[in-house]
Amino acid sequence: MKVELLFITPDAEKLIETAGRTSYLSFNRQGENTEKEFIRMLTKRGHYSVLEHAYATFRISGVSRAFTHQLVRHRLCSFTQQSQRYVDESNFNYVEPDPIKNNSKAHILFTKFMEEAKRSYSELQRLGIKNEDARFVLPNAVKSQIVVTANLREWHHIIELRSSPTAQWEIRKVVIEILKILKGHVPTIFEDFEIDEKNSVIKKIKHGG
Ligand SMILES: Cc1cc2nc3c(=O)[nH]c(=O)nc-3n(C[C@H](O)[C@H](O)[C@H](O)COP(=O)(O)OP(=O)(O)OC[C@H]3O[C@@H](n4cnc5c(N)ncnc54)[C@H](O)[C@@H]3O)c2cc1C
Repeated sequence: MKVELLFITPDAEKLIETAGRTSYLSFNRQGENTEKEFIRMLTKRGHYSVLEHAYATFRISGVSRAFTHQLVRHRLCSFTQQSQRYVDESNFNYVEPDPIKNNSKAHILFTKFMEEAKRSYSELQRLGIKNEDARFVLPNAVKSQIVVTANLREWHHIIELRSSPTAQWEIRKVVIEILKILKGHVPTIFEDFEIDEKNSVIKKIKHGG
């Protein structure tokens, strides 16, 4: 699994402050490093829409279609995903969950099934079936890549839902990587999430939104 930041709104916290100060016409109070306190004041009041002025785009690769299907449920994002119509999947790579990898019988069963899926896909192609139809035999484990853009309010929401211990492991792993990157660029907006030494996310302050 690989998570790369492709783009983030430059000086995003400053932009959010500039937009937010329009509410109060308090531009005269804007200066160097004033954005942190200003953003904290906004989020404490539940004035989250101001976070929508800044965006971040990530490329996520080496993840399963099971993962991407969960991600695309987030309706306020924009997505571009590797196509199973235009890309030949006859030699697909796949994600094997640790509980399967660490159980020798389960691992053998899983690997056999992946090989069988590859054989069936290629056989369908040989029979003249197009990729768009041959793909119906592909498993959820098939690796994919996806580019996703969202505003920072939506990223906050996604991280809140998907970093929780109740979320599925693969999406949790991805959003924790996204959170680490976002914390480096827009620390104030994501400061209510802490990542502990076990790579678990703890939410300190009720943020809502
Ligand atoms: C632990 C877990 C288990 C899940 N299990 C299942 C499952 O079994 N089956 C299943 O189908 N899904 C499941 N989901 C997916 C879940 O139901 C949501 O579809 C997904 O998390 C997207 O969340 P969202 O709608 O809040 O976010 P987004 O689509 O990212 O939207 C962000 C926010 O915008 C607002 N919003 C967006 N669209 C609308 C709208 N049309 N009307 C009103 N408000 C809107 C809402 O406030 C929403 O929270 C699960 C999710 C989690 C985290």
